[in-house]
Amino acid sequence: MLQDVALNCYNIVQSYLSIDAESAVATTGDVIKQTQESIQLSRRYLLQDIFTRWDPFNGEISFSYNGGKDCQVLLIIYLGCLWEFFLMSIQGSQYDLQFHMFPLQQLPTVYIDQEDTFLTAQDFLQRSVERYHLSLYESAKDKQVDMPSAFKSFLSVHPETQAIVIGIRHTDPFGETLQPIQKTDPSWPQFYRLQPLLHWNLSQIWSFLLYSGEEVCGLYEMGFTSLGSVNNTLRNPYLRIPEPIGSMTKAETEHSDFQWEIENNYRGDSNMHCNEINENDLNTIKQHDSSEFHPGWYLTKDEWERAGRLARK
Ligand code: FAD
Ligand code: MG
Ligand code: MG
Repeated sequence: MLQDVALNCYNIVQSYLSIDAESAVATTGDVIKQTQESIQLSRRYLLQDIFTRWDPFNGEISFSYNGGKDCQVLLIIYLGCLWEFFLMSIQGSQYDLQFHMFPLQQLPTVYIDQEDTFLTAQDFLQRSVERYHLSLYESAKDKQVDMPSAFKSFLSVHPETQAIVIGIRHTDPFGETLQPIQKTDPSWPQFYRLQPLLHWNLSQIWSFLLYSGEEVCGLYEMGFTSLGSVNNTLRNPYLRIPEPIGSMTKAETEHSDFQWEIENNYRGDSNMHCNEINENDLNTIKQHDSSEFHPGWYLTKDEWERAGRLARK
């Protein structure tokens, strides 16, 4: 039930917030403390600015989700906040928690299916739908249709939508000047964009996601750092492990910064969880480059996140 997963996400967030950042600092640097601050700011946006303006339980808010790491982080925080908001709404009631119904069975979400995505990413999206109880609207697959038009069609099916949550960050292309709450541009269908993740950087995303112990898209484990279409996305070149020819050669990035998070994860199994790589994807990927790559979370430089993207033709 959505209620259970919202509570679980709440517990993940609370557990991360209760990490003693000072004692973890020797192994993790400042990232945990910074991520805790980022979580608190995202929670403030959601609980104080967003849920007070749009009701998260009646379909006014939808969530744009494509299975990528950023919207997954935001989804976990969002669901945790839904739980908190539910608790706040029944405060003062004469009845105990168990007598109150969680007001939502599935979370309204929207996915725009434009690109030829990896089958592994599609599989992960379906697994997310089940795990997080998403009611997923998938746009009709049509590469000729641009994103604004796809959202126009979405709104004609879901006219109750007033605002859509987006897992975009300031370091994304054209993300620098975005605001946590703003209207769409004039060339887009009109609704509010809710962007409570803008201030997060790549390290913080991985620190939280790896700590959560939630399953992430398997492409990341293979060395992808950003998910795009099959035709324009390669593994990140900075993560390639060079063949040991003659003298020692080193990959740009040799270590994961997040060993502590994995070892101490919320799930309690000190393990990383990914969905399985589809055989076809594996062939396509290996055909292009048979080298081994470090997992995506070995890369923490925001400027290099999209280094595996080919320029669009
Ligand atoms: P990513 O990291 O891939 O995506 C950032 C976030 O966008 C994701 O976390 C997810 O929440 C959402 N997203 C990305 N791809 C999809 C998808 N296929 N289906 C569903 N959600 C997805 N641009 C403008 O110039 N003006 C606008 O007014 C505007 N409004 C937008 C409103 C919404 C609801 C969305 C989702 C996007 C909008 N955009 C707008 C485009 C936005 O700024 C990004 O360019 C776009 O989300 C793609 O992001 P990315 O690939 O650069 O980064
Ligand atoms: Mg992203
Ligand atoms: Mg994208």
